[in-house]
Amino acid sequence: MQKIDESSILEVPITTFMISIDEVAHVQPDNSLEHALLILVKSGYTSIPVLDTQFKLQGLISKAQILDSIIGLERMEPERLQNTLVSDVMTTSIARVKNNEKLERVLSYSINHPFICVEDMEEAFLGIITRSKLLAYLNGHFHELKKKQRN
Ligand code: AMP
Repeated sequence: MQKIDESSILEVPITTFMISIDEVAHVQPDNSLEHALLILVKSGYTSIPVLDTQFKLQGLISKAQILDSIIGLERMEPERLQNTLVSDVMTTSIARVKNNEKLERVLSYSINHPFICVEDMEEAFLGIITRSKLLAYLNGHFHELKKKQRN
């Protein structure tokens, strides 16, 4: 039986799986929560990156964080959406890697994070790698391997 070639699975550059910045929905720190919620709902994403005007990663903002921030003592307070900034609510705890990081590290981050942010050496944001893209890659690899084993 053919052995799984771990090295060839893991030697792929991580940028192979990257959704590049042009295709990544994002907001800016000084956008209102109303704007962020609109982008999140329209895009259908749970959480998106927050980038400053220099395209540097400042945080992540999610639907859950926004909803949590408008819960008042006795009722929802949607009027807060217009008066609160993304920077007041976003998390700065981010799964982030440099573009030359090993796939192994990205895989291990993806256990706890649905997507991982990728930056260059100057910390400019390049894009994201989603868990689903990684799983699709591994799934494809194992199917190929199974095929080879049958032949
Ligand atoms: P997926 O694996 O495609 O379901 O994506 C997982 C998560 O990654 C989504 O819920 C979003 O938080 C984020 N994500 C995926 N694609 C994008 C994108 N194009 N722009 C912004 N965030 C994204």
